[in-house]
Amino acid sequence: MEAADPRRGLAVIAKQVAGCHDCPLYKGATNPVPGEGSATAEIMFVGEGPGFYEDKQGRPFVGASGKFLDELLASIRLDRKSVFITNVVKHRPPNNRDPQPDEIAACKQYLDAQIELVAPAVVVTLGRHSMQRYFPGEAIGRVHGQPRRKDDLIVVPMYHPAAALHQQTLRQVIEADFARLPDFLAKLRGEPAARTEVPPQLRREAAAAAPDAGSGTAAATAAESDAQQMRLL
Ligand code: SF4
Repeated sequence: MEAADPRRGLAVIAKQVAGCHDCPLYKGATNPVPGEGSATAEIMFVGEGPGFYEDKQGRPFVGASGKFLDELLASIRLDRKSVFITNVVKHRPPNNRDPQPDEIAACKQYLDAQIELVAPAVVVTLGRHSMQRYFPGEAIGRVHGQPRRKDDLIVVPMYHPAAALHQQTLRQVIEADFARLPDFLAKLRGEPAARTEVPPQLRREAAAAAPDAGSGTAAATAAESDAQQMRLL
């Protein structure tokens, strides 16, 4: 797509999404949810798919998980107007089921175009399905919060905010991962990274709370080895 003005380009994508029949998800949806936010955002958040309230309102992350996302953004002095928020599929999967691989593949064109237009410094994936779009087969418990390069993009996988609603212990993990974002962005900009530091206690609690993180020396060694290879900072 050729569009010099990212806002205009994003509006074109929203129109295309509204008329899209490329997968069956449009059939049961009330509204398309193309995404929203700053057309020049430094951070793009990519969730999985619209839920009940998102489908009703045509906006991403407006339910309980959206409220928590707002809190997470506020914790690093951001709001949703300063970032871009979208999902891997733009219509609600029936009964909030997981988006299927063929649906994610069919919708890829829109997310790719949004990323190209906004050109964020960092894409933050929220949840397993959006992470696996970039790192198939990876375990989120092992890589959450670690910036990784995927082709021309820098991607930071994180848990979905909804996970914190169902697993209270994950709240600390997500909060710790968010708390590291400002420093990471500052380093990308070449600025001194001194704005936030995750308190050691919070870091320990988050590490202890992370599921799928593996346990024991072997897991820790493997994770550290991978981290050394893939971590950007
Ligand atoms: S979810 Fe994506 S691919 Fe499927 S109909 Fe909606 S816009 Fe088209």
